Amino acid sequence: MSTSIRFDSIDTVASAVCRDEEPVLLLTDFDGTLCEFLTDPNEVELAPARRQLLASLAEHPRVDVGVVSGRPLDDIKHRVALARDLYYAGLHGCDIEGPDGATTVPIDGAELADLTEAGVLLEAIAADIDGAFVEYKRQSVTLHVRAATPEDRRRAESTFRDETSDLLARERLRLQPGDCVLELVARSSWTKADAVIWIRRDVERRRNDRVRPVYLGDDRTDEHAFSAIDSDGVSVAVGPRPAGARYRLPDPAAVELLLGRLLRDITPG
Ligand SMILES: [Mg+2]
Repeated sequence: MSTSIRFDSIDTVASAVCRDEEPVLLLTDFDGTLCEFLTDPNEVELAPARRQLLASLAEHPRVDVGVVSGRPLDDIKHRVALARDLYYAGLHGCDIEGPDGATTVPIDGAELADLTEAGVLLEAIAADIDGAFVEYKRQSVTLHVRAATPEDRRRAESTFRDETSDLLARERLRLQPGDCVLELVARSSWTKADAVIWIRRDVERRRNDRVRPVYLGDDRTDEHAFSAIDSDGVSVAVGPRPAGARYRLPDPAAVELLLGRLLRDITPG
C-alpha cells in the first residue's frame, strides 16, 4: 500500500454529513464497505453491531438508509436482514426495493443470448485456474478469481481479455472490472449511479423534502455511484484504491465508527 494515501478522520466525514439540518440519505455498498472481504463471498456476514447501527439509523426520523450491492436483491436482503423501511438495490441497481415501491430493469433477448455465450467462455477459463469460478446473475456473468494465486489471476485476466474481445465488439455487453472479479454486464442494465438517483428521488417524494445523499463504497463499481453524488452530497471511498470520492476511510471498521458517530450527531427529529 502506498504511504501517500491520505485517509480522512471520522470527525471530518461526520461533520460534512451533519453540517446543517438537511435530512440524510445514507447509502452504502456491502462487500468491502460494511463487511470485510472473505475468500468465499458466500461466507460474508454482516457483524451484529453493524446491523444494529444500520437499524438505529433507519429508525432515526431524519435518516433513510439503503444498501446498494452487486449481489442479487434476495441475497443482499438476506445478509442485511433488516425488515424496517430500508432500501435495497441488488445487481448494481437492476432490482431495487424500497418501503413502498420497487423497480426492475428488463434485459433484452440479444443481450441474454450474449450472456449465455459469455458463460461458456468464462467456464473454460475457470476450468484452467485453481480457485476460479463463474457466477451467473440475471444481467451479468462473472469470473471470480479472489481465491487464485496472483500469477493465476494475471493469467486469468489476460485470457479473459483475449477470449471475450469478439463478444464485447458486438456492443451488447460491457466489461465491468471489479476487485478480483471480471464481470460482463448487459448494456441496458442499470449502474449504481441509476440506483442512487432512483432511491434519492423516491425518498424526496416520500419526505416531500430535499435530502443530502451520502454514499460509501470500496469498489470500481462504486465510482458510478460517486458520480451521482452532487456537491451537496458526501461521497466516501473505503480503502486505498484510487477513487473519485470526496472523502476516504481506511476500512469497514472505520465505516462502523462513522455510523456510530452519525447516530450521535445527526440532529434529532
Ligand atoms: Mg464493495
